[in-house]
Amino acid sequence: MSLLTIGTVAFDAIETPFGKTDKILGGAATFIGLSASNYVNKVNIVSVVGEDFPEEYIKMLERHGVNTKGLQIKKGEKTFFWSGKYHNDMNTRDTIDTQLNVLENFDPIIPEEYQDCEYLMLGNLAPSVQKQVIERLRKRPKLIVMDTMNFWMDIMMDELKVTLKLVDVLSINDEEARQLSGEYSLVKAAQKIMGMGPKYLIIKKGEHGALLFHKNQVFFAPALPLEEVFDPTGAGDTFAGGFIGYIAQTKDVSFENMKRALIHGSALASFSVEKFGTERLVDLSDDEIGKRLQQFVDLVQFDIVLENTI
Ligand code: AMP
Repeated sequence: MSLLTIGTVAFDAIETPFGKTDKILGGAATFIGLSASNYVNKVNIVSVVGEDFPEEYIKMLERHGVNTKGLQIKKGEKTFFWSGKYHNDMNTRDTIDTQLNVLENFDPIIPEEYQDCEYLMLGNLAPSVQKQVIERLRKRPKLIVMDTMNFWMDIMMDELKVTLKLVDVLSINDEEARQLSGEYSLVKAAQKIMGMGPKYLIIKKGEHGALLFHKNQVFFAPALPLEEVFDPTGAGDTFAGGFIGYIAQTKDVSFENMKRALIHGSALASFSVEKFGTERLVDLSDDEIGKRLQQFVDLVQFDIVLENTI
């Protein structure tokens, strides 16, 4: 089985009510790769950085099972930079700055050894680049999951709608679902978005969990109530990495298995927010993941007799 992800590998500068960071390691493909590597031996990534990107970050990704063969390093250019500020409730944030830099002319070259891709995670990137990657794979993967964000909806909605037609699962947050569909009700939004292409839709609601839609069915996974949330950056990507990583490991693309994948994604995301950037993800044991999954099970498991209670 092989898992390929594309997305940004970036420098982030983050401000939350708990502190501020200078340029630290971030990017959608970074979080997805680190998260999914808990489930599969190797996560192949296709991305691009500039000459300013420290080699120690690349070595760290490799140590964690992320294959950086498809990570292009552009001489004389600068790495993608994003900076964001979170509000007091940590559920909403403002983008302060997005510097596309190397992303502006990114040509996603797929190494030959990645061609056996069975599971494809299209992390946050220009929708035209996401489409190019699908087209450059000689065989269609068993499952294509796509993430995107308001930034691309604002400037490339038409291209985004073209790419949407090609994917199986779309993973976005509630605000983005409303923007994409023009509907306030998430149920109506889900029906409209599934009409645009994806057969499955995940709507993430931050600390209020995530919804998985398919046809007329809906499944809900809560977020674990945490004592401390330091930095939600990358939670969505970490979630996506856990989701597709679990599916790649179990080789099962059914709706029933996606429900389990939703819990795995939520569990991984709950770690990511506990420290700044990728700090918590790079220091995560299988034992901790197992215990956290059990906390999720305990959180929602209840026996209830529904007959004759009213
Ligand atoms: P998330 O918090 O999961 O939505 O993802 C945050 C990550 O997305 C950060 O590490 C950023 O580097 C990256 N990011 C921010 N803006 C963009 C963008 N326009 N395209 C691709 N990646 C982005």
